[in-house]
Amino acid sequence: MPNPFQTILFDFDSTLIRVESLDLLAEQKGIGEEVSRLTEASMDGSVPIQDVFPRKMRLLSPTRAEAEGIGRACKDLLVEDAAEVIAALQRLGKDVRIMSSGFKDIIIFAAQDLGIAPEHIIANRLEFDAAGNFLAFHDDGVPLVSDGKRQKVARLGLALPSTVFVGDGATDAAVQGSVGMFIGFGGVAHRPRVAAAADAYITEPRLAPLLRHILLPNELDWLEKNGFEELLLSATMSPRPDAPE
Ligand SMILES: [Mg+2]
Repeated sequence: MPNPFQTILFDFDSTLIRVESLDLLAEQKGIGEEVSRLTEASMDGSVPIQDVFPRKMRLLSPTRAEAEGIGRACKDLLVEDAAEVIAALQRLGKDVRIMSSGFKDIIIFAAQDLGIAPEHIIANRLEFDAAGNFLAFHDDGVPLVSDGKRQKVARLGLALPSTVFVGDGATDAAVQGSVGMFIGFGGVAHRPRVAAAADAYITEPRLAPLLRHILLPNELDWLEKNGFEELLLSATMSPRPDAPE
C-alpha cells in the first residue's frame, strides 16, 4: 500500500480565505486599485514578488490596529469548508500548517477559527513602534523571493515526499517537484500558470476536493464513518480547465 501524505501546508490568501488580505487593507486605505495591481502581477508570476512587495508595503504602512482589524475581518471571509477540511485532516492525525508570504500578525485571527495553532503558522512579521505605527516588515519566516516557499519547505526538515502543498499563486507553484504533491487551488482566483504547473487543480470554490487527491481509500473510509460523510459528498473532483476533451 502507498504511504499516506503526512504534512499538509496551506497557503493563506485566496486559499484559506476568499480575498488577498493586503488588498483588503489597501481598499480600506483608499489605495485598493494600485495595490491589487501589484498583488496580481506577483501572484500570476508575471513580475517577481521581490520586485513588488517592498513597494506595496511602503504604500500600505499598516498600523498595528489596522493589521489586527484586517485579521479580524478575514475571520468572516474563510473559504466555505476550510475549517471542516482542516478538522478532517487533523482527525486523521495530519500535521496541518499555514505557509504564507503574508504576515502572522494578520493571519493569526483566522487561523484560530481554522484550528491552527500560532506555532503552525509559517509567515512573516510586521514591526511597529511603541505607538503602534508601522516601522518595517521582516521576511524572516518565508523569504520574499519567487521561490521563497520552496526554500522554506526545504529548510523545515519535513519528509518532503509525504508533504502536500495547497495554494493559488505563482510562489506556491514554485514548490512543485520539491514536495510529494502540489495542489493548485483555483476556487478563489484562477491562474492558468498555476493550473498548468499543478499536480492536481481544484476549480470548485471549496477545498473538500483535495481530500480525494491526497487521502488513501482507508482514510476516506474512516472519515465517512466518523462524521465527515457530507464533506466527502462535496469532495467530487472536476476535470482540469486545461484538460483536453
Ligand atoms: Mg495565495
